[in-house]
Amino acid sequence: MKKHIIVQKFGGSSVANVDRIKTVAKRIFETKTKNNNVVVVVSALGDTTDELEELAFNITKNPSEREMDMLMSTGEQISCALLAMAVKELGHDAISFTGNQVGIKTDSSHTKARIETICGKRIKAALKQNKIVIVAGFQGVSDEDEITTLGRGGSDLTAVALAVALKANVCEIFTDVKGIYTTDPRVVKQARKIQNITFDEMLEMASLGAQVMQARSIEVAKRFNIPIHVRSSFSKEEGTMIVKKDEKLEEISVRGVTSNKKESKITICSVPDQPGIAAQIFTEISKSGANVDIIVQNVSHTKLTDISFTIPTSDFNKALDATTKIAKKIRAGEILTDKNISRISIVGSGMRSHHGIAAKMFQALAKNKINIDMISTSEISISCIIDQKQTDEAVKILHKAFQLDKI
Ligand code: ASP
Ligand code: MG
Repeated sequence: MKKHIIVQKFGGSSVANVDRIKTVAKRIFETKTKNNNVVVVVSALGDTTDELEELAFNITKNPSEREMDMLMSTGEQISCALLAMAVKELGHDAISFTGNQVGIKTDSSHTKARIETICGKRIKAALKQNKIVIVAGFQGVSDEDEITTLGRGGSDLTAVALAVALKANVCEIFTDVKGIYTTDPRVVKQARKIQNITFDEMLEMASLGAQVMQARSIEVAKRFNIPIHVRSSFSKEEGTMIVKKDEKLEEISVRGVTSNKKESKITICSVPDQPGIAAQIFTEISKSGANVDIIVQNVSHTKLTDISFTIPTSDFNKALDATTKIAKKIRAGEILTDKNISRISIVGSGMRSHHGIAAKMFQALAKNKINIDMISTSEISISCIIDQKQTDEAVKILHKAFQLDKI
């Protein structure tokens, strides 16, 4: 019988200390003894990546992105070596590799590189020798032989991309929660674990603030139709399957509620209402590298209008610099900023065919005196920008309004 190839990814919290590394090693070993080929992707131990980042920022406010990648990629090199040692201690042969060693080729955009190809020759050779292969997540190498990283949370992407390259049967993402929940169980204790969720819904939830998986990795899983099993590394319980489509899922209009407190708002007042002005503003902002999210332009009655937009708070400074510059050039008025906003969203693929969902969301918020500042919709989600202080309250209200505690 042909052996299955299983890719297992363990997040930072699953390998936060020596005991956990040993537990993970046992789990990998068990999978291997069921006659599988096992390729493991591992994140840096615990909060290592945050700590490395902090070290850099204690030295300079403006570290070069190349040096950041040199630094940040070391975390995963430590964890993959330790995990290989732990597996060997159990009596099974194992070998660790960096992204570079297994030919994970990326473009050269440091700190947010995109994977272009994976050679995987060394992985296949090691599997043939019946070794358990352990790959450092989150990293690759560019054509110029520079080490790159794939953006925060990028080990998920390494795992999914390896599953594609190796034609794996399944990609298991082990984490510190039991799966994907209808909302963050730390905020709403009635949150339920979801059994099956579609790639589209998961992608939307991940982009809108659910923190279990990196959004880019879901995009790749969707493109290549790689089923993902998100589960806990601390229990044997089945987690959540992320799949292409499940007929039953179509009936559910709202599958989850997410929130994101890391957004900020910038408003440019008294913008001349002329063709080409919005283009100029957002060209300047995009040149700064800031990622604009929701844009709202008011109707003008006086040939002047206000334009507001949101950006991730991490892009706030560059977006504000760019906005200040362009506002002066086009002779706009004052610039207002607000960092105390957050976005709350409902997600569900059944929204395509159900109506009245938006009305129900706005009514639930209104009944609880939560003011909606901006609204944005996609085919399968509705988001509102609200006062950050009311975030958790709004999440609870929406979870209840859509009866997500009853699924
Ligand atoms: N260690 C990296 C991070 O914390 C990558 C990962 O955990 O997936 O972002
Ligand atoms: Mg991490």
